[in-house]
Amino acid sequence: MTSEHVKCLIIGSGPAGYTAAIYAARANMHPVLYQGGQPGGQLTITNEVDNFPGYPDGVQGPQMMQDLEKQSRRFGADIRYGIVTKVEFSDQPGHGTPHRAIVDDTHEITADSIIISTGASAKWLGLPSEMRLNGRGVSACAVCDGFFFKGQDVAIVGAGDTAAEEASYLANLCRKVYMLVRRDEMRASKFMQKRIQTAPNIEILYNTSTEEVLGDEDVSGVLVKNTVTGEERVLDVTGFFVAIGHTPNTGIFKEYLELDENGYILTEKGSTRTNVPGVFACGDAQDNVYRQAITAAGTGCMAALDAERYLVTLEMQSEEIVH
Ligand code: NDP
Repeated sequence: MTSEHVKCLIIGSGPAGYTAAIYAARANMHPVLYQGGQPGGQLTITNEVDNFPGYPDGVQGPQMMQDLEKQSRRFGADIRYGIVTKVEFSDQPGHGTPHRAIVDDTHEITADSIIISTGASAKWLGLPSEMRLNGRGVSACAVCDGFFFKGQDVAIVGAGDTAAEEASYLANLCRKVYMLVRRDEMRASKFMQKRIQTAPNIEILYNTSTEEVLGDEDVSGVLVKNTVTGEERVLDVTGFFVAIGHTPNTGIFKEYLELDENGYILTEKGSTRTNVPGVFACGDAQDNVYRQAITAAGTGCMAALDAERYLVTLEMQSEEIVH
């Protein structure tokens, strides 16, 4: 196994990771960033991004990620293909026992600071038609893509707070929103349930499963089934939103980091500090509320600034030990 030591290791390559890399590189922290299994993250499976400030005409998600990568390379960030498969966080970083990460099971990196930006993955129903029409009317983010369905009829599957919030968001844009709930009740908070139950253009279909997303090039309908009566019907919609939860990509850290009950990394309020000194978390891996490219980028910036301050303190401490 090859090995090396770095000042700052960034794990993950969405807007959070690349923004952290830009700031860390400009602060002379010589960051090394591993892109993970989906270089660029969730935005690489989005078409148009219309709500990121600074792009007056919108931008394609993959293009935006390429731009962010290019920008971070311009300042010297070392961006690499590779998946961090294992970590060992030290109790006493800075005392000769740095944090450790293994890449692709073949390369060992020790690091004075680590920024985690591994993101979260949207859960999908698992229908082949859902995958085929992904980005062509199928979306897992109403705030990102709802605008493209202005004045149209759409369906959203899910019954938690996210689905309720997104149904409410879509109801402000679309003519009609069908909400597909698999059981005879919702999981969302009572307040959110009331909000969508009273919206005039949201129709909630309980005991309903999605059998197929219909359409050749783009979504043209959804085949649903009432699981009590067995009755099937086609909903004439042009958009199909999936809001059945996200899984934060934090499995390899759970032995060391405090996570919430859904697996999101807990950070100190107002910072990106985790419970392990020298380890910082940003982006969707620690945010199950906002989950936007712009908020991920914002916390990526925070993580680099937090890591920079941490490294300065670490250097001062080791100088004191030497003198
Ligand atoms: P949840 O796990 O809370 O809800 C997922 C929903 O999707 C459930 O209703 C579940 O149904 C449904 N579902 C799961 N799989 C399928 C499937 N295969 N077919 C149909 N439906 C399915 O995820 P959320 O993203 O909604 O929320 C995650 C966490 O974030 C929660 O704690 C939530 O409270 C919180 N949150 C808070 C917000 C706020 O406070 N403003 C906003 C958004 C989220 P079932 O109920 O039958 O299991």
